[in-house]
Amino acid sequence: MSKIIVVGANHAGTAAINTLTKLSKDNEIVVFDRNSNISFLGCGMALWIGNQINGSDKLFYSNKETLEAQGAKINMEAEVNKIDFQAKKVYATLKDGSNIEENYDKLILATGSIPVHPKIPGMDLENVQRVKIFQDAQEVIDKLENEEIKNVVVVGAGYIGVELAEAFQRHKKEVTLIDAMPNTLSCYYDKQFTDLMDNNLKEHGINLAFNQKVNEMKGENGKVKAVVTDKGEFPCEMVIVCIGFMPNTNLGKDNLDTFKNGAYLVNLQQETSIKDVYAIGDCATVFDNSIQDKSYIALATNSVRSGIVAAHNVTGHKLESIGVQGSNGISIYDLKMVSTGITVERAKTMGLDVEYTDFEDLQKAEFMEEDNHKVKIRIVYDKKTRVIVGAQMASKHDMSMGIHMFSLAIQEKVTIDKLKLLDIFFLPHFNKPYNYITMAALGAK
Ligand SMILES: Cc1cc2nc3c(=O)[nH]c(=O)nc-3n(C[C@H](O)[C@H](O)[C@H](O)COP(=O)(O)OP(=O)(O)OC[C@H]3O[C@@H](n4cnc5c(N)ncnc54)[C@H](O)[C@@H]3O)c2cc1C
Repeated sequence: MSKIIVVGANHAGTAAINTLTKLSKDNEIVVFDRNSNISFLGCGMALWIGNQINGSDKLFYSNKETLEAQGAKINMEAEVNKIDFQAKKVYATLKDGSNIEENYDKLILATGSIPVHPKIPGMDLENVQRVKIFQDAQEVIDKLENEEIKNVVVVGAGYIGVELAEAFQRHKKEVTLIDAMPNTLSCYYDKQFTDLMDNNLKEHGINLAFNQKVNEMKGENGKVKAVVTDKGEFPCEMVIVCIGFMPNTNLGKDNLDTFKNGAYLVNLQQETSIKDVYAIGDCATVFDNSIQDKSYIALATNSVRSGIVAAHNVTGHKLESIGVQGSNGISIYDLKMVSTGITVERAKTMGLDVEYTDFEDLQKAEFMEEDNHKVKIRIVYDKKTRVIVGAQMASKHDMSMGIHMFSLAIQEKVTIDKLKLLDIFFLPHFNKPYNYITMAALGAK
């Protein structure tokens, strides 16, 4: 029998605990989480803030009671403040101020990520908000009740910033979205795609202030009054700062090997540089198949898979991660965009020699006059090997399932040429005989 300690019980931790308790009843599993809730689906946060779903109850899929019924001992509101990796000991402080020490045989670190906090004046002003945990979202929702909040500035036009801009606009707030880059979503899509999202936001009345860096939050009586950039000043009563996440690795950064951004470096079994210590989810690296290298991609999907992998290895069931492609999606008003792997722009910045092929067509046969929308697709492939390394799609139609095939193609190193004569079925209700995937592949140089 082993004693396994899990630090952090959100998506990665919960997946690990679920798997540990299923794989073996003999181990003692002790969990610490500093928060008061487990498994908050941040992906539903903007829908909740924007009143597109009924409340937050269904944004949780687990809790202390469920995990304890499975056999784990769960310490909530219990912050781990020190780990002695030599003595294999974890030190935690409970809500009532009491301290606990626990020895472990195996340790799983699932401490996640924290929002990047820019070092600029005014970040501590009232109504400068960050969004990560359930409590952050609840605070924003409570503040939106205040009718004095008419202008909201969202700093950061990644997928969270874009989703929140929509949510605030749905509250009839005057919304400005600021970013240092020239477009929204620039990490995941090339300009031809991000232009679609930018226009979509503009058409819905959201002001875009791109190519500018935020220098300061100005305040009055302790409350934020404006965001100042290198190009102008944007009056507002609330600011949401969502410029990215950094791995939360304070507990182990001085003992474990880390990636350039501070994430714990792990191998395909989620093992860190110290024996019997595993790291999963947003606090750890992933292996990115599109660049064939370690990387940092903070997504709930990656967290869950890494939790499953670690739990298998911890309990002696050898399992290796097959790597990830950073597959992602977004749906804003009625525009849906999905992507996987790398973009042409990112390839350029990494010095990779890629080609791409584009195509745009209706989803279904022309004679299908209802609910038939254009779909835009780009497939990115390595110029020399012709292996697919990325794909992007955009449409008002829900074509999202199509991107999974490209995710598998990248994972399995499929060439663009293999896709040209792939057996893709045709039925007018669904697609076209000369469908956009085939046509894009056939158009590859
Ligand atoms: C608004 C928003 C929208 C998102 N949308 C999506 C989406 O659509 N799709 C997607 O795949 N991903 C999405 N994500 C990302 C996803 O939420 C994260 O990748 C995921 O939460 C990572 O899970 P995790 O368990 O690794 O870390 P976290 O969720 O960060 O959890 C870490 C846990 O560790 C605990 N902890 C930390 N330090 C300590 C300590 N010292 N002692 C005890 N406990 C500690 C924390 O309390 C927390 O419960 C979104 C994130 C946000 C914020």
